[in-house]
Amino acid sequence: MDEIEIPESHPRYESLLTRHRIEHGVDLGITSRQGLIAQGRGEAYDYLLGEETIPSADDAARAAAAHLLLADHAVLSINGNVAALVPGEMVDLAAATGADLEVNLFNRTEERMQAIVDHLREHGAEEVKGLTADGRIPGLDHERAKVDADGIGDADVVLVPLEDGDRAEALASMGKTELVIDLNPLSRSAQSATVPIVDNTIRAVPNVTAHAEDLAAASDAALREIVDEFDADAALDAAEDRIRSGGE
Ligand code: ATP
Repeated sequence: MDEIEIPESHPRYESLLTRHRIEHGVDLGITSRQGLIAQGRGEAYDYLLGEETIPSADDAARAAAAHLLLADHAVLSINGNVAALVPGEMVDLAAATGADLEVNLFNRTEERMQAIVDHLREHGAEEVKGLTADGRIPGLDHERAKVDADGIGDADVVLVPLEDGDRAEALASMGKTELVIDLNPLSRSAQSATVPIVDNTIRAVPNVTAHAEDLAAASDAALREIVDEFDADAALDAAEDRIRSGGE
């Protein structure tokens, strides 16, 4: 990836790098201009969270890893922001959990779909789903409902980093186990998730991978215990408390 030269010691290093990646994503035709706005909204929450993975988000990342390892068919959904921010990290997470990758866009154009598929392949992905679009998510208008029947359509567990609220709700009402990464604990995506990870995608995706690697040899019973012990409402409350108190 074309990175700018920012010294890692710069106090705003991660934020500047993130902005640069999103901007570059727009230049490459993989991120939409609306993606820039979504990023700005996320950054405000990240600032209030202290730009770090809070303990409840780490617990959520572990529960998400356990769900991915227990799944019959897990799919990691990729949109234009995710493709710009963490393409290689999503490929690594898919490898660590045996999940499929599927491009799933709010503003779907064939050109942008193909650009994202190509970008993921440049970052090591082999099969990338999303171009067939022969399945539908019930309850959404035609363009936004499109998924691959043998991808998200068939999945029992779906990881959706930065999903828009409508589609997150529609996926949850299909009965899928939904793992959401969203910096806003009040968003409909976070609220409808089985596991809401309130953290920046840039930190959360490698963290879920690290937990999946750590749990690779765990028994199904041990994984189920992690899943059962996780409390989504408590995780959302902990994140909201951190934001409102500014970490006090
Ligand atoms: P709602 O679910 O409240 O209806 P929405 O569908 O309007 O929200 P958008 O504004 O499209 O949501 O969403 C972008 C969401 O993604 C915001 O909730 C924002 O906090 C989150 N977000 C943006 N950038 C990141 C990031 N890098 N990591 C994690 N979350 C992010």
